[in-house]
Amino acid sequence: MHPATHHNTRLGMLLLVSGPSGSGKTTLCRRAAKAGIANYAISCTTRPPRPGETNGTDYFFLTIEEFKQKIANNELLEHAEVHGNHYGTLKSEIFTHIQAGRDVVMDIDVQGAEHIRNNTDPQIQRALVQLFVMPESEAELRTRLTGRGTDSQQIIETRMQNSLEEMQHWQKYTYCLLSTDRETDYQKFQAILTTESLNTNRINPV
Ligand code: 5GP
Repeated sequence: MHPATHHNTRLGMLLLVSGPSGSGKTTLCRRAAKAGIANYAISCTTRPPRPGETNGTDYFFLTIEEFKQKIANNELLEHAEVHGNHYGTLKSEIFTHIQAGRDVVMDIDVQGAEHIRNNTDPQIQRALVQLFVMPESEAELRTRLTGRGTDSQQIIETRMQNSLEEMQHWQKYTYCLLSTDRETDYQKFQAILTTESLNTNRINPV
């Protein structure tokens, strides 16, 4: 067998991106998708859209009944309750892409990441890459959560508390990106995508 691998196909990666709200993880995932270097897995949620958010682009915004139906139909890879709302990953946003060798980035909370980490599907395990995005400081996190300008003080407080709890889980991830500024963060994010695209685990044998 020729050792060159450039004609080989590969399984796409499934890059889980966790970190507190306001860490900038959504921006990183979105930017990579916009640049065409990865697909963004659009999640389902029962939370109401924020101003400017579009159904089918930011999330699939569902009623609780619709969400429960997706669970019953086994359409979700995982689901979790975050900040009092339900969030879930659609299998249809993942499998066709990774099987076609396209990388998928997922914005996911620490509970959802735990579910996927424990998923025994060999394809999921082979595709999996895990990144935690850590805000620079508690003060910076608060500034970012407040700066969004779309959430009430009470929502900001809930998110702040959850964020501090979420930050305890960073060691379960393969990579931890300590956030500084947007450009530096994105360069590091791209570096992970590039490096992991070369991982032999995902290259299919000739
Ligand atoms: P937000 O309401 O700010 O868009 O998201 C709140 C939290 O839900 C974030 O931590 C985000 O990563 C997480 N999240 C978004 N989509 C999913 C998903 O499909 N599953 C899980 N478990 N968490 C998600």
